[in-house]
Amino acid sequence: MRGRVNAASFLVDPLTLALLAGSVIALYLAGRSTVQPVDMPDNVTIDELTRSATASREGIDNTPTSSARANLDALAAAIVSPLRRAIEAEGEELRITSGYRSPELNTKIGGSSRSQHVTGQAVDITATGYDAEELAKRIDGLGLPYDQLIYYAPSRGGHVHVSHRASGGRRMVLYAPSSGGYERRSI
Ligand SMILES: [Zn+2]
Repeated sequence: MRGRVNAASFLVDPLTLALLAGSVIALYLAGRSTVQPVDMPDNVTIDELTRSATASREGIDNTPTSSARANLDALAAAIVSPLRRAIEAEGEELRITSGYRSPELNTKIGGSSRSQHVTGQAVDITATGYDAEELAKRIDGLGLPYDQLIYYAPSRGGHVHVSHRASGGRRMVLYAPSSGGYERRSI
């Protein structure tokens, strides 16, 4: 009896074999890319993350590169989508005022060459019922994995710039006062 049980334990059933093969494939795919692709969430559109009045007016192509598109999907899934759900649950509306900027568009509007908008890692947003500081506090309070959070004085747009990196967020908060520059803040 004991011998038969031991013999059976050497047999690997097909299900276990399939699970093992699946794990090996998953590990292989994970090793090939540092950014895990995610789908654009249902409550965010690629159009609102790429549309630009300046690009339309100037005839600039603002189609994201494939890596920028992957970053936009990740940013939408990690931050924009859950934030919008929370804001809409309060009867308010979250608006994206600027998302992806192609290098040509970024140059045209005088953006920083190191801007995370160019890599698809940043959006500028506003919300009805919120000023920029309140919106920044809401994002932080929800525990969303932001990289940089900048809230702007009304004279500088009154919006919130929020960025996301797949490699991990620094959770850095800055205030952009009307006098110019940026100030580190904790909220
Ligand atoms: Zn921005």
